[in-house]
Order: sequence, then structure tokens, then C-alpha cells
Amino acid sequence: MKRNSESRERKERKEGKKGKVYIVGAGPGDPELLTLKAMRLLEEADVILYDKLVGERIAELIRKLNKEAIYVGKNSGEKGMRRQEEINELMKKFALEGKVVVRLKGGDPFVFGRGGIEAEYLAKNGIPFEVVPGVSSVNSVPAYAGIPLTHPGFSSSILVVAGRDDVEEWKEAPIRGTIVILMGRDTLKTICENLIKAGRSPDTPVAVVENGTTPEQRTIVGNLRNIAEKARDVRGPAIIVVGEVVRVREQLSNPFSRKHSG
Ligand code: SAH
Repeated sequence: MKRNSESRERKERKEGKKGKVYIVGAGPGDPELLTLKAMRLLEEADVILYDKLVGERIAELIRKLNKEAIYVGKNSGEKGMRRQEEINELMKKFALEGKVVVRLKGGDPFVFGRGGIEAEYLAKNGIPFEVVPGVSSVNSVPAYAGIPLTHPGFSSSILVVAGRDDVEEWKEAPIRGTIVILMGRDTLKTICENLIKAGRSPDTPVAVVENGTTPEQRTIVGNLRNIAEKARDVRGPAIIVVGEVVRVREQLSNPFSRKHSG
């Protein structure tokens, strides 16, 4: 029943009325972590606007769908804001043409994904939109590396932060809790120094998981004192996990988790 009404809605839109934008989370890179809803919308879309972070395998899947797909990822040299304006305008343009637009973003659109900014823009411009959550790298990438974010006796809280920000506020983090850092690859050294200054032991275990959930996944384990040096050559997107939970990984390296433990 639900499907029927959704198709009707879509048909009406195509008959010259307003289009709609779906801001969709693609998950962390493994196409099997796309949600069923994301997959259905990709199949129904007229246009797909996708980011670099969706990963090569999902980009390939999009190409196979054989529809208008525009890569809107930015290279590190480009100005984020300018790019954002262009993306906003593209979403508006296609929606006003009556098209079903899927704005596909890495992980979850509302977790450091600027999904909120895009939703705000669409709301302001009176364009119908819907947000479709995705599997965030925050929890899924550590999971593929065999690291639970909470574990009895190890940690019962999680702090998720952006590594490029000032780390002043992290001092408030519960001393035993897990810290998950996104976008922290290039500032890892400073992050570790600041956490030690804030009272964490230099021996606190740290894991850096690069290209999580993809065939290129790589996990580097160390501690606050030495991880910056050990992870020096990391180039891909990386999640940093700080806390005792990193130790659980060793206990979980059994034949069942081995597939993704690299
Ligand atoms: N909305 C995304 C996060 C966007 S911010 C989400 O919910 O996952 C971009 C940061 O996410 C990257 O710098 C990196 O820290 C992290 N990230 C995203 N995908 C990743 C992956 N497959 N492996 C490791 N880190 C990833």
C-alpha cells in the first residue's frame, strides 16, 4: 500500500508539478550498508548528486543505474562554501524542473555531513524534501575494525568530535569514555597532545581506521603517545577511536570478524 501511494506521489510530480529532493545517507562505503530506502530512491531518481565520500563502489553502482548522475565532491583545494552554493542551486534547479533528486551523502547526512545546511536551504526556498538517514561511519567503521564503542567495564559513553575543531571543549569528556574523532587525520598529533594535556594517560589506546568498510580498509593501533607517528602515511578518510575499547579488538579477532579486521 505504502509503495503504491509513493509511486502515485512520484507520478504526480513527474506530471509537471514540483519535484522533490531526497537528502540520502549512503553509508560508509560498503554498498551492502546502503539502506533499502536509499536503494529504492536511487532507482527512482531522475538525477543523483553524489559526494566523493560515498566511495568508489557506490559510485560504480550509481553509474550502472544509467541515469543522470553528477559528482559534486570537492577537492581539498576548492572552497567549501562556494561549492555548497553550487550544490544548493543544482538541487533547486532540478526540483523546479519537476525532477526527483537524490542528494547522496557519505554516512549519515546529519552527522557532519552538511545535510542540515542543505535541508535549511530547501526549506527556505519552498522545495519539498525528505531526509533519509544512513549508516554513519561513526559507529560502522569501528565495528568493521572489531571495535565496539561501548563495552561493559571499558566505556559507557561516546563523544563524537570533529578533529579540525578546537579541542578545548573535549576537556569535558568523561575521562573513561570513548572518543570518536572524524576529520582528524591531519591534526592527529595535536589532538593526541591536547588529550594528554587534558588528563588522558599517554598509554590510552588509539585506533586509526582508514577507508573503513571498503576493500582498502586498514587499521593502525597505538596509543596517544605514538599513534601520530604510526599513522603518518594515512591518506584516505579515517576514523580515530580513543579509549580502552580499542583493546577489545584483540579479543574479537576470531574467524568471524577476520574478514573485516584488516
Ligand atoms: N556524514 C558522514 C561523516 C562526514 S565527515 C558520516 O556520517 O559518516 C567526513 C569524515 O567522516 C571523514 O573525514 C572521516 O573521518 C569519516 N569517514 C567517513 N567515511 C569513512 C570511512 N569509510 N572510513 C573512515 N572514515 C570515514
